[in-house]
Amino acid sequence: MSEWTIITNKGFSSDEWEGRPVIEPADILSSKVEIEHIEKSQLKLENDFQVETLKPFLNYLNAISINFPLHDGRGFSLARRLRQLGYQGILRLVGHVVVDHYRHAIQSGFDQIAISSELAKRIPESHWKQQIHASKYSYQAKLRQNGYDKSMNGFQIKTVNNIQNSNLATLAFGNVKVTKVLHWTDQLFSFRVERPKNFRFRSGQFAMIGLPGNNGKPIFRAYSISSPSWDDELEFYSIIIPDGSLTSLLQHISVSDNVILQPKATGTLVLDALRPGKRLFMFASGTGIAPFASLIRDPETYEKFEKIIITHGCREIKDLNYGKSIVDAIGKDPLIGEFAADKLFYCPTVTREEFHTKGRITDLLETGQFFQNFHLAAFSPDTDRAMICGSIEFNDNIKTILGDVGLNEGSNNHPAEFVQEKAFVGYSNKDISGPSGLF
Ligand SMILES: Cc1cc2nc3c(=O)[nH]c(=O)nc-3n(C[C@H](O)[C@H](O)[C@H](O)COP(=O)(O)OP(=O)(O)OC[C@H]3O[C@@H](n4cnc5c(N)ncnc54)[C@H](O)[C@@H]3O)c2cc1C
Repeated sequence: MSEWTIITNKGFSSDEWEGRPVIEPADILSSKVEIEHIEKSQLKLENDFQVETLKPFLNYLNAISINFPLHDGRGFSLARRLRQLGYQGILRLVGHVVVDHYRHAIQSGFDQIAISSELAKRIPESHWKQQIHASKYSYQAKLRQNGYDKSMNGFQIKTVNNIQNSNLATLAFGNVKVTKVLHWTDQLFSFRVERPKNFRFRSGQFAMIGLPGNNGKPIFRAYSISSPSWDDELEFYSIIIPDGSLTSLLQHISVSDNVILQPKATGTLVLDALRPGKRLFMFASGTGIAPFASLIRDPETYEKFEKIIITHGCREIKDLNYGKSIVDAIGKDPLIGEFAADKLFYCPTVTREEFHTKGRITDLLETGQFFQNFHLAAFSPDTDRAMICGSIEFNDNIKTILGDVGLNEGSNNHPAEFVQEKAFVGYSNKDISGPSGLF
């Protein structure tokens, strides 16, 4: 009988890996073993191994175990990195794991835990089952289903030769069904659509969405995806421009309608474009909150930063409602709430109504009132990182402020201290208002 008891989401089970040959990373990296052998083996990893070196072999590996010594949680981040690199096989945590670790293990991407039979006698199956029940929800499992699923099912690809108004080079697109629409004000609404199985994106990116125009040709516009990358659906937050080509039509969508989604997401507001730091400032005006609504619902943001400060500037209090509802929901969420507790700071400002913090974010930053009101220390270029999303003028002003304190702009290829994306292109005025006066 095996010395190990295996714990999966069904409870205790026997060790299905018994008899599988054991290989070490060195066997793979030195090309000592054939691909066929790799596929049939179980790879044993210590928790300080550089998993990135295994990237070329991850498609062939089906069983990986990570050692978990007492009081050393590095195995969790190793699992997360393996999943982020695209590993889709079974991942097993082996060692001194107790019931309290179960949830974190599953959230990190493990499928199963192996404990010694002796430990299994001390912590019976009923204790584990309680945890299993409480941990049904795993963002890593969803990440795998959504982000790394190789299947093309469910997303009908069509090709056209001439898409008017499309800024991206990609020419393939597909219909996705609307599952929810919420109107927040007479000028702002959010909607959710089914997520095609092959649609991959990183939290903070944008995609092109569209509708057929009056002449039958599709009209596409860039939209930040406001849901996190692990979500089963895609969420968007939209302005209504009364005579806008797309939003004059899009404002009328309802559940079960189709919108067109181009299959490529892109953008610079991604965590990888920033150098490691301690505080992450997110500066949004108007619908610029959308990419941050995605990032603040992604556990990775909280793994990378100690404090996330999300600022949202609008003209009226009601324009804050979407962002505020997301922040409120995070506090109650059984998964993200745990990550965000004590780390997420919400700093709304309003220009045209009485409010606890009134004025343009840029002015409040320059006078220092922003830091005073929200009890924050002033900028420090060594540890602060930032993301900006607003009108062109808003972005330029914040960029100047950040530049003055020594933060440099980065990109996907050259990570630095801050990144920016325009929330829209076109008209702006001194009040940082769109034509419909939202900011
Ligand atoms: C990278 C990127 C991401 C974007 N993400 C979003 C998003 O998440 N949500 C969203 O509503 N829009 C977003 N936009 C703007 C979006 O692409 C469209 O411009 C918007 O949906 C209006 O489309 P339209 O055809 O009705 O009007 P358009 O003809 O595109 O715009 C008409 C005018 O309306 C103003 N305008 C456009 N969008 C906005 C806005 N969001 N806020 C204030 N004024 C605006 C501009 O002055 C523009 O010249 C994004 C734009 C870019 C470049």
